[in-house]
Amino acid sequence: MLTTQEQLKYSRQIMMDKIGEQGQIALRNAKVLIVGVGGLGNPVSLYLAAAGVGTLYLADGDTIELSNLPRQIQFNEQNINQNKADTAVDKLSQQFPDSNIEAIDDMLDQELCDYYLPQVDLVLDCSDNIKTRYLINQACVSYKVPLVIGAATGFDGQQLIVDPRDDNSACYHCLFPASEKAPANNCQTLGILGPVLAIIAGMQSLQAIKLLTNNKAQINQLNLFDGLSNQWQQFKMKKQESCTVCGGKA
Ligand SMILES: [Zn+2]
Repeated sequence: MLTTQEQLKYSRQIMMDKIGEQGQIALRNAKVLIVGVGGLGNPVSLYLAAAGVGTLYLADGDTIELSNLPRQIQFNEQNINQNKADTAVDKLSQQFPDSNIEAIDDMLDQELCDYYLPQVDLVLDCSDNIKTRYLINQACVSYKVPLVIGAATGFDGQQLIVDPRDDNSACYHCLFPASEKAPANNCQTLGILGPVLAIIAGMQSLQAIKLLTNNKAQINQLNLFDGLSNQWQQFKMKKQESCTVCGGKA
């Protein structure tokens, strides 16, 4: 049951048929891992804590740099050289004292995946590198934990859901079977604008809330955003039976 205070605080969410009190309770009981506390992880962690997600784990081994500030909106110049996860957790914990928010001040590796994945209901990939993206994808498939992936460079962004609880769900490796074929460009080579990250992070947060509240979320769909033409494009993905990560089990 929700407390009177919770009913008031989250009333605009609860009044929605597809959320309701049950959905709000599900958010409060949810445990979510956010990998990467940069341009995507900053707004994603804010939106999920604000929506009432009860437990958030934020993982990042990087320290804050001056060039992060135009888009990593929780940080300021006093935070330079501090760990991103620690700093974000300090700030979020003050703003959302009812949520349990913990920092993992390290780059995600297999050992951390093996520790955290069995505990969480959902993972958000807000990382900025392919190696981490493949690792998270593999771990989420192994532990059957739904995954919301986001990425952005320049004016462009992408978002997709991998839901290994569904036998028909394609994974990231189905889409990009070998690491050398995956897009290697990143913000350091192509630049990035904060609002493009905000759009992708908003989309990731929305998908996360849908998944956590048992609403239909779109698997096998790659959503591409072009910030210059203001257009979204949806591409159908298909699970590859030859995929070395998720295929061949049926
Ligand atoms: Zn796959």
